[in-house]
Amino acid sequence: GLEQIRCVGCGISIQTEDKEALGYAPLSALTKELPICQRCFRLKHYNEIQDVSLTDDDYRKIVSSIGDEDALVVKIVDIFDFNGSWLPGLHRYAGKNPILLVGNKLDLLPKSVNPNKVVHWMKKEAKELGLKPIDVQLISAEKGYGIEELAEAIDHFRQGKDVYVVGCTNTGKSTFINRLIKQYGEEASDFITTSHFPGTTLDLIDIPLDGRSHMYDTPGIINHHQMAHYVSKKELNIIMPKKEIKPMVFQLNEMQTLFFGGLARMDYLKGGKQSFVCHFSNHLNIHRTKTEKADELYKNHLGEMLSPPEDITNFPTLKRYEFMIKESKTDVVISGLGWVTFTEAGAKVVFHAPEGVAVTVRKSLI
Ligand code: GDP
Repeated sequence: GLEQIRCVGCGISIQTEDKEALGYAPLSALTKELPICQRCFRLKHYNEIQDVSLTDDDYRKIVSSIGDEDALVVKIVDIFDFNGSWLPGLHRYAGKNPILLVGNKLDLLPKSVNPNKVVHWMKKEAKELGLKPIDVQLISAEKGYGIEELAEAIDHFRQGKDVYVVGCTNTGKSTFINRLIKQYGEEASDFITTSHFPGTTLDLIDIPLDGRSHMYDTPGIINHHQMAHYVSKKELNIIMPKKEIKPMVFQLNEMQTLFFGGLARMDYLKGGKQSFVCHFSNHLNIHRTKTEKADELYKNHLGEMLSPPEDITNFPTLKRYEFMIKESKTDVVISGLGWVTFTEAGAKVVFHAPEGVAVTVRKSLI
């Protein structure tokens, strides 16, 4: 009879008949020196494993069992959507384990941004959210910036222990893992496997590090406070910058309003004529109007001239946030959408954003 061929990824015996069943691989896979089943192949290339939906309960089980291990936790956030991509409660679940905080998508920030200021801001925000990371690093998983330094930092801080990578969906966690796999070389990528997380139906992706210890990629959880949650997949491509943000300067008089698509709005109430530097996706339409006309305009044109969102049926009313800008060089950040830099002090402004989307103030990154 035929010799059984096993998948180098998960060990299942490979079959070529039933595409839906476990162990399926196309015939061509059998001729490979290291045969791999289609499921593991996809896993390796991260196309289809991502869409697992995770209940809050599953998620809690996963993160709380990290606390029982002796490990390094690598937490990925999207620096363009810091608050929206923050995993709440991790500091409680992770137990005594050190947490290395990684800000991804550095390539989106304009060249004028000082990375040290980004790190400083992340530390401050983390502290306010109850987390004290052992280190903060910036990367671009897509462009490969900072990956080598991060790999070194992981190796330094893990002290021979296992590593758990955690993060929300859309932070670029899988792009990052793929980078690391490349970094560790082809050899590692042939032996990536999945293992079940005890008590859940979810797979962990297990990347061997040195024969004794492992890196586990945990499934991403959807954070319902993300701006991304309020738009369609197509619209996410509009609001989520793909390239370095080109700042746009608006000169505004008092009682003028800017609409950021139909997703958010800034009313400039008081402070004399000033310039406002807008940092948003280059594809997002910014519309200027008089504040006295803004409500009416929004009512009549949301979903059309003021879009995204195109589908306004489930779109929430915007929540108001009032700010007095006390210092020059201050940013007001609408998490997941962008930020406005105030170059002068003394502006009185009102921001409007969907409920749950964080609107925060920081020292300008420039
Ligand atoms: P995951 O859901 O956390 O696994 O995230 P993915 O790896 O699927 O990435 C989510 C989105 O962010 C995709 O559209 C990626 O192309 C994009 N992305 C990931 N890393 C980077 C990065 O370093 N820079 C930029 N600009 N986009 C990134």
